[in-house]
Amino acid sequence: MKTRVLVLGAGFGGLELSTLLSETLADDVDVTLIDKDDAFVFGFSKLDVMFGRMALDAVRLPYRNFAKTGVRFLQQKIVTIDPDTRRVTTDAGTYESDILVVALGADYDFDATPGLAEGGNEFYTVAGAMRLREILPSFSKGRVIIGVCGTPFKCPPAPSEAALLLHDYLTTRGVRADCEITMVTGLGSPVPPSPETSRALLAAFAERNIRFIGNCDVISLDRGRVAKIEDGNELPYDLFMGVPKHRAPDVVRASGMAEDDGWVHVNRKLETRFPDVYAIGDVALAGTPKAGVFAEGAARAVATSIVARLRGGEPGMNAGVGACYIEFGAGKIGRVDVDFLSGPEPTGAYFEPSTALRAEKEHFGSSRRARWFGL
Ligand SMILES: Cc1cc2nc3c(=O)[nH]c(=O)nc-3n(C[C@H](O)[C@H](O)[C@H](O)COP(=O)(O)OP(=O)(O)OC[C@H]3O[C@@H](n4cnc5c(N)ncnc54)[C@H](O)[C@@H]3O)c2cc1C
Repeated sequence: MKTRVLVLGAGFGGLELSTLLSETLADDVDVTLIDKDDAFVFGFSKLDVMFGRMALDAVRLPYRNFAKTGVRFLQQKIVTIDPDTRRVTTDAGTYESDILVVALGADYDFDATPGLAEGGNEFYTVAGAMRLREILPSFSKGRVIIGVCGTPFKCPPAPSEAALLLHDYLTTRGVRADCEITMVTGLGSPVPPSPETSRALLAAFAERNIRFIGNCDVISLDRGRVAKIEDGNELPYDLFMGVPKHRAPDVVRASGMAEDDGWVHVNRKLETRFPDVYAIGDVALAGTPKAGVFAEGAARAVATSIVARLRGGEPGMNAGVGACYIEFGAGKIGRVDVDFLSGPEPTGAYFEPSTALRAEKEHFGSSRRARWFGL
């Protein structure tokens, strides 16, 4: 009998793990991959959609194109997870597994920031990015806040990218001089593990007259026009572009897998405290940031462990390394190669913005489109 592997969530982590298992163990495993959506969208595509650089249809990657030997994809909503029995129920059925991998990502807690739903916008969901795509063309004057409402959040450089791209967008429209841009974040610097990257981003902000306020989350939006921030200050705004506070999906919290901090704790092998249950990507607390490259790295480690279990060999260890591309505007992209788990402190090597790195980022996206979706 084949080993039944149940992969919950077809994002960066779930797609890469299922692909690796198909490549290495298709004859030995039955992989079931479940996601509630009918298509995958890269996080960075939300910036492209928001600023009108890409149409939504062009960035949606339908799961019907994810065809891998030994893997069946089910578009269903997961409603309960029992980590003791590794049994999962969805809105359409119940599934048993020998190995369970939770890759359900991070959800957003809009209620944690009073006023956000009524008085603000966010660009971390496809719907939020689409809404801003409608609003931005008629925004020609006033104060914009790009505000982070809680840490940790996905892709720490993304709010900085949004600020720099917004500068370009308003400049192209000839209205930049009539607008103020302020970025507020709970992080002390734009990219904490890499002081060099943070310095470069702060210099880019200074050149473009973008104000940076660090060490301060946005805690509430009042009357839809004033943002209260953690240091007690109040910042008036005309347009709020937020990063909502993150939390593990409800189904994960209800399963008893999450700890008091709300996330699923894992060891270096991505094992949870439940036998044969792994957690990878944004849903897990693994000592790495919430980003697709780290979800992929975790998927590689778990695939190695499953191969080792079936064929012998050493289990996989989470490497904790990844390259993050950063849009600096003006068509240029920088890169920071971060390493979170090798040494006593995280490190980040910075590569300055260039058009060559733009091509590299495009390859990052297109190689995954091809690998996962054959597109
Ligand atoms: C604006 C922005 C820019 C970003 N830029 C980058 C970047 O340049 N590089 C990078 O590496 N990362 C980037 N990221 C972060 C990246 O998108 C995430 O960290 C990554 O997607 C996490 O992968 P994951 O597999 O853990 O979760 P996800 O990719 O979020 O996948 C989780 C899946 O679980 C599914 N799911 C959740 N609950 C249920 C349920 N109850 N039933 C069924 N299915 C469910 C969801 O539909 C989803 O498909 C960016 C994110 C944003 C928002």
